[in-house]
This record gives sequence, structure tokens and C-alpha cells, in this order.
Amino acid sequence: MAVRNWYPLPVAGSEAGGRVFADLMRLAEMVEPGQPGWTRRVFSPEYLKSRELVWELMGSAGLEVRRDPAGNLIGTLQGASPDQPALILGSHTDTVAGGGRFDGPCGVMAALEAVRRIGERGGRPQRTLLVVDFLGEEPNDFGISCVGSRAAAGHLSSGHLRLRDGSGRTLAEALAQMGGDPDRIAEARWPQGTASAYLELHVEQGTRLEEAGRGLAVVTAIAGIHRAEIRLEGRADHSGTTPMDRRSDALLAAAEVSLGVERLGRRGGLGVATVGRLELEPNSPNVVAERATLIAEYRSGDPSWLAATDALLQEEVTQVPARRGVRAQLAWLSREGPTLCSEELRSVLLASAREVGEEPLELASWAGHDAVQMAAICPVAMLFVPSRGGRSHCPEEWTDPEQVEVGTMALTAAVARLAL
Ligand SMILES: [Zn+2]
Repeated sequence: MAVRNWYPLPVAGSEAGGRVFADLMRLAEMVEPGQPGWTRRVFSPEYLKSRELVWELMGSAGLEVRRDPAGNLIGTLQGASPDQPALILGSHTDTVAGGGRFDGPCGVMAALEAVRRIGERGGRPQRTLLVVDFLGEEPNDFGISCVGSRAAAGHLSSGHLRLRDGSGRTLAEALAQMGGDPDRIAEARWPQGTASAYLELHVEQGTRLEEAGRGLAVVTAIAGIHRAEIRLEGRADHSGTTPMDRRSDALLAAAEVSLGVERLGRRGGLGVATVGRLELEPNSPNVVAERATLIAEYRSGDPSWLAATDALLQEEVTQVPARRGVRAQLAWLSREGPTLCSEELRSVLLASAREVGEEPLELASWAGHDAVQMAAICPVAMLFVPSRGGRSHCPEEWTDPEQVEVGTMALTAAVARLAL
């Protein structure tokens, strides 16, 4: 029966189905000392060291391994028809500070295992298969995320390379320390037509799979993210001697705008909206706040919801602070539209999930992924496995070994459909 086809072959010292999980746990041992959780941030020595293990695992799975100028690790299994564009599988192995063991590594190890299973069956794929561990997907001190996949998409600019972290180091210098070659960054770009598709397995980082009692989801779209900085300027006054009706309180205007942002996120169920950052001046208990700066962020898989929210936020910022005698300015920090997953690849993933005995959900992803960058080069699709309690970016992040195995089987079945 087809369901059994993509289990791993028995390996000495490893139970069937346990190999991909064992690789994950080996990687998880490589963490930054003195940091909470399972921290392995992008430019840390431990991250550099951990990629020797990824390199070794790729090599022992029979892949030719190289590091590109952006620091991406790329393992290649040559196909029988080298003129066909390659199938790319990938994710990342860096974590946020205090993060967990599954966000990212789960996708890299499942990709590696999928290609290993194909190879073990002696089948040489028609298409070349690439497993990519993209450098630094999580946000870093330089203020950007998806460094490696951004370079692969040709979106890592010389302006990005000149960004500096708190210690004054440039991103170019940090990349060089990771074995990259910033002077040749343009060569990290994947020319159009060289990739047929990009597949990424990832943990859901939410509770929808768990609540539905399902083991897999096929992602429909990755939410677009809009961020706006709102600067509010009132007047600093004595908190005792200034009557309540004579104040221009920037803090209260910020509070009211923040509640308005919450209302925007609650309408229609098509998006979420957050104010996660607020700075106050002078931020003193006995002074009416003179200035407040907040960042409003909202996400949706629906471009029209994002556009409508832009207009409503603008209206909110024009009207609400003015009623309090507070001046307001809005500046867009970023406006990235949603990434739609390929219909064709989605149907391959749906069929592959069913082939391994799962009835998958179809979900939008509310978190960003390397797949967003890869969508500039080729069609993309994603597979989610459950996250216990929806917890992510924390030490409690967990996916059961059996769930990782089911995801790996489905990914392998999809690779077989697309590349053999
Ligand atoms: Zn991730």
C-alpha cells in the first residue's frame, strides 16, 4: 500500500521513523551558552558550528554540498535530466533568542530526509533536487530577516550589506564571518528558469491543526504584512498643576490609536492587527507625555483587506489625535502583499498528504517564511505540521516525532510526484 512507501528504510540503531527526529535533536544540542531556551541566532559562533553538522548530514545523505556567497548551505542530488529546472526544498536552522527546536530545523531535516529516502530507494530523480538551509531567516540586529533567501531572490541590496548592528559591524562583515562572500553576493541569485518549484515544510506556529485533530495542512497563502510608524506630538506639562481639560497628552492619543488598531484587526476575521511597540517621551510619572511613537502592524492573506485597512488606519490617525490636540504623522515602514501558493503545487501536496493517510487542512500562514522570497523565482507551496498548544518562538515549541514523520512522508511523496 502506498502509505508505507515513504517510511525510511530500517537503519541500525534507529527505529523506523525516528531518523529525521534524531537529526533534529542532534542539531538542537548546539545552542548559545547562557541564553534561554534553544537559542541559535544567525551570526552566533554556535550557528556557524551547527552548520558543520548540517553539512555533514547532507554529505552523508549523498548530496554534493556547497556554501553560496550568501552563506546558504546547498545540498544537490543530481537528476538524470540536468536540463530540467531543479526542485528546491528548504527552510532555515537559525532561531530567535529564547526560541525552540522546530521552527526552521524541522523543514531542513524533513527535506534532507525526503531526498535521502528517494536516494535510498535507488531512484535517480529526473529533476535535480536541492536541499537548502537558508542563512538567517529570523530577524537579526541588522533589522532584516530572510537574509539568505533574500539573496537567492536577488533582493539583498548593497544598502542591506551596509547596515550595521549595535557593535558597528556591517552585514557584509557578518556574512563573511559566516563563510559567505559579500563581494560576490550577486552570484547567490538564482537565475529565472533554474528552479521548477520550492517546497517548504514548517511547524504551524498556531493551534488550528491541533484543534481540528489533523496532522497536516497545505498552505494557501502567506500573509502580507504592512507596518506603519505613527508619531504623536502633544505638550509636556506638570501632572499636578495642569487641569485635565488643558492637556495635549500624547500617551492617551497613542492609547486611543492602539485601541483603534485592535478594532481594525477584529473586523471581518480576515486579518490581525497589533501595536507591539510604543515609546514615550519624557516617560516620567509626573509629566504629561509630550511624544509617543508606536508601530502598527497588520497581516492578511487578502490584498483587499490590507488596502482597506491602510485607508482606515490613515483615517484613525488623522481624526483621533486631533480631538486631543495632538499632532500625528504616519510613515509606512513596509507594505508587502500576500504570497499566494501555487494552485498546482497545492494540489500535489494535498494528494501527497492523502497518500500518506492524512486529510489535510488548507490554511493561510500568518508568519513569514523563506518561501515568500523564493516566490520571486518560482512557484512555491508549504506544508504545516502541528505545533503543540500553538507555542512557537519559545522553549516550549514542540511537534511529536510521529507528526514530524507524517510530514516527512508527505513531503517525500510530493518530491516523488514532482521529480521522479
Ligand atoms: Zn521559521
